[in-house]
Amino acid sequence: MNDSFLFDAHCHLDFPEFDHDREAVFARARQAGVRRFMVPGTTRARWPDVTSLAEREGVVVSLGLHPYFLDEHGADDLEALERALANDSRIVGIGECGIDARFEQTLDRQWVIFEAQLQLAKRFRLPVVVHCVHADDTVAKRLRELALPAGGLVHAFGGSPQQARRFIDLGYTLGIGGSVTYSRAQRLHRSVASLPDDAFVLETDSPDMPLSGHQGSRNEPCRLAAVCERVAELRGQNPAEVARHTARNARRLFGCQSEG
Ligand SMILES: [Zn+2]
Repeated sequence: MNDSFLFDAHCHLDFPEFDHDREAVFARARQAGVRRFMVPGTTRARWPDVTSLAEREGVVVSLGLHPYFLDEHGADDLEALERALANDSRIVGIGECGIDARFEQTLDRQWVIFEAQLQLAKRFRLPVVVHCVHADDTVAKRLRELALPAGGLVHAFGGSPQQARRFIDLGYTLGIGGSVTYSRAQRLHRSVASLPDDAFVLETDSPDMPLSGHQGSRNEPCRLAAVCERVAELRGQNPAEVARHTARNARRLFGCQSEG
């Protein structure tokens, strides 16, 4: 892709799914032009693996407590998060955290843990990595009230142009991933076509969210090139241009402006 490169703004490369071939996964990504990676933490037990990835060239990390793993979060995990943020300058964001309304019976506890992480994002002036499923309205309302200083990423955005506009107006960046490769995702296609160049980043959410044609198989960052091509097509731009804008947006979001 000439001089431009891709930044996978959300990939769980610490997950055990990659333990047997992590080097090959990084090699295939580089081969496909993906040279930067943002790895978000999900549970306290996984944080050491996440932060050790920050030692690699091109990898930045965030730490957080993901709503999907609610049962694994202990009472003192939020204090541990606060300590980690105070002591480890490699952490560039807070998350993955948020609300997954598919799990209705745990919503109250999800909100307690999400709110605590939003407060940490405010205090440490770090961007927040938001997982938001069937909860766009309530999450957007809370983000508006808090006006976090560094904004954040609304990961795996799949909503309408109006929902996109609302998050952008609040200062948030949208994560566009493999969903865009499905022909049935027409509402998302309209959103992607309407976004300003500086409003979104590209992400795979590896090992989850496989692209169209790869259902049932492990997702990995090398597939970001196909996401970029589809986004470029929907926007009437060339892929190198989309790669350049989105990598720049991700660097700005996660405060890694200086590196190439
Ligand atoms: Zn994720």
